[in-house]
Amino acid sequence: METREIFRAFPFLMQAAFYVVAMLAIAVFLYGFWQRIAKYRKGSAAQRFDKLGARILRASRLMTTNATVWKRDSYAGLAHLLIFWGFVVLFIGTTIIAIDHDVLRFFGVHTLKGTFYLWFSLSMDVFGVLFIVGLVMMVVRRGGLRPAQLDYARSDRPGQVVDRSGFTRDDQIFLWLLFLVAVTGFLLEGLRISADRPSFEVWSPVGWAVANLLDAVGLRSSAHSLHAYTWWIHAVMVLGFIGYIPYSKAMHMLVDFANLVFQDDMAAKRLPRVSEEKMKVGAGYAAITDFSWKELLDLDACTKCGRCHVACPANASGGPLSPRDLILDLRTYADASIGRPEWLGQSFGDGANWPGDKVAGISVPGDVIRPETLWACTTCMACVETCPVGIEHVTSIVQMRRHLVEEGEMEDSLQDALANIGDYGNSFGQSERARARWTRELDFQIKDARKEEVEFLWFVGDYASYDPRGQELSRSVARVLHALSVDFGLLYEGEKNAGNDVRRVGEEGLYEMLAEDNIATLEKARFREIITTDPHSYNTIRNEYPEFGGQYSIRHYTALLADWIEEGRVPIARKLNVKATYHDPCYLGRYNDGVAPPRRILEALGVDFHEMARCGKNSFCCGAGGGRIWMDDSGLEERPSEIRIREALEIEGVEVFVVACPKDYAMYTDAVKTSGNEGRIVVKDIIQLVEEALQPTV
Ligand code: SF4
Ligand code: SF4
Repeated sequence: METREIFRAFPFLMQAAFYVVAMLAIAVFLYGFWQRIAKYRKGSAAQRFDKLGARILRASRLMTTNATVWKRDSYAGLAHLLIFWGFVVLFIGTTIIAIDHDVLRFFGVHTLKGTFYLWFSLSMDVFGVLFIVGLVMMVVRRGGLRPAQLDYARSDRPGQVVDRSGFTRDDQIFLWLLFLVAVTGFLLEGLRISADRPSFEVWSPVGWAVANLLDAVGLRSSAHSLHAYTWWIHAVMVLGFIGYIPYSKAMHMLVDFANLVFQDDMAAKRLPRVSEEKMKVGAGYAAITDFSWKELLDLDACTKCGRCHVACPANASGGPLSPRDLILDLRTYADASIGRPEWLGQSFGDGANWPGDKVAGISVPGDVIRPETLWACTTCMACVETCPVGIEHVTSIVQMRRHLVEEGEMEDSLQDALANIGDYGNSFGQSERARARWTRELDFQIKDARKEEVEFLWFVGDYASYDPRGQELSRSVARVLHALSVDFGLLYEGEKNAGNDVRRVGEEGLYEMLAEDNIATLEKARFREIITTDPHSYNTIRNEYPEFGGQYSIRHYTALLADWIEEGRVPIARKLNVKATYHDPCYLGRYNDGVAPPRRILEALGVDFHEMARCGKNSFCCGAGGGRIWMDDSGLEERPSEIRIREALEIEGVEVFVVACPKDYAMYTDAVKTSGNEGRIVVKDIIQLVEEALQPTV
């Protein structure tokens, strides 16, 4: 009959020995797994069990398609997909064998036989081959292709010795152990077939081919005894792998699914509030146990793939921050202080401020993660967006910043900006009454939405109100809206900084005050919808104000204009004959999906449009977000905005660098000058192009 003997002619003692070793491996696995769970239980609360069914379905879809691994890296995506499905099918096959042999036979049932057995054998061989192909691709990637993201060198700790060879060994052990398990599995199959030669085993084509090879080299006569040795080698490696899972990189096979299940779709877009009790004892995270269980899970989920490391503008510009290393440092510390020290991790040499011998009684922001590392973040969210396993770096960074703010540990320039916002409602430290002074140069009056009803309330934002270059853009927007007979108004001096960046700096108390003040003013105004030219204000009003009672319909002006152009409401008088590229602001594109409208406008204007290498949700940050615009960036090797201008100039003959954010306009006009590219490229906001296109002649 078509079937196979699991233990062939093994004596009873040998079979018993296998079960003893198997129990030992399972016990080691469960102990390590429990240690992980115990660590997460030491974290603070996080509500992630809502809509659990939908969460599981979504995570299952992401896992089974490998969509997040595939994104922007088809080589890694394909290799991982082959390994994933190869592993899943081989695991299911092994489980079927175990159930059939160790459970069902005691009830007189034997399922692994006949036609089912033949198809079972064929499937195991096919997926075994795919598994090996995926593993070989990964070995080639690490050993031959060596993409920059897999280099574990620390860019943020110059002069300090950080030994990360443990990480490399862990990666290699994981890959080679899986590879050897697969290869010995096929060898075992070949030896079994060679020894017995049952004709139906042609349904195991790889095993059959291996058997032919063994016969050809004259090993058929010793196939029986070789089979016994190989069986044990294979079994010990499989059981060793099971025990090894919770202590190594292999843990990601379990943790990553959980991390995707409990992922917050609004991570970074909507930061967590601080409870009143927490506010009293100090906002933010100081100890590792302040991190929520989900944030502790994040640390274990990291596969060290390095995607966030190469996407991070702070890292690219020579700043002291790599989101990958931040997560790995937190993991090393969490394991050392409330978990179990990593088996193969990193160690810090002389000059590193942590860990030394001490793990207790030290502050995570400051001792484990240095303040300059936390302040280097622009909160651009590139790390969160690109991470294949749903890690929420930005939330953890802001929580640690909240503690630094409590301690007053920040640059003077940042402190001044926050003080100005507290005193005057704007970071420029100018009078509230000066907020709408830019309107004086217009030859028409803009309505005051606090006094009369308007269709659109324009929330202008600080930069577009006080910065002279931003004011130019605001007047341009006003003229276009006026020309289109749009019924719109302002809050005038009633508007305050929306608080988006204040919140991301970590000044939660000031943020709450700003949000409450703006909401109180908006409640008194009469309007149908809010429009804004500022992506930062857009994000917080759209995603965070609802938690403070301010639920509004809000659109970025590019969304509105794109619709109006398509409805024929914008009388475009001429096509613009310029070669241009467009920079997606992080808070519009990545945070709020506002990728298509600016491109629809540029197309309608007849612009000769070309994308930069990084665009849309994969855009590269200008370096201003998260309060960085208020901090000193003179120590950077090359500012993110200068890197971006260089990237734009890779497009041959490009003339215009288009933006859709007043801060971007200021950052990039500066970057064109400081990078010595004046005369080669000019920065324009989309609204300036629209205004040009409304004029019949130049
Ligand atoms: S949010 Fe941006 S700057 Fe901050 S760590 Fe992530 S990628 Fe780097
Ligand atoms: S945090 Fe995410 S993107 Fe960054 S290295 Fe870890 S798994 Fe990769």
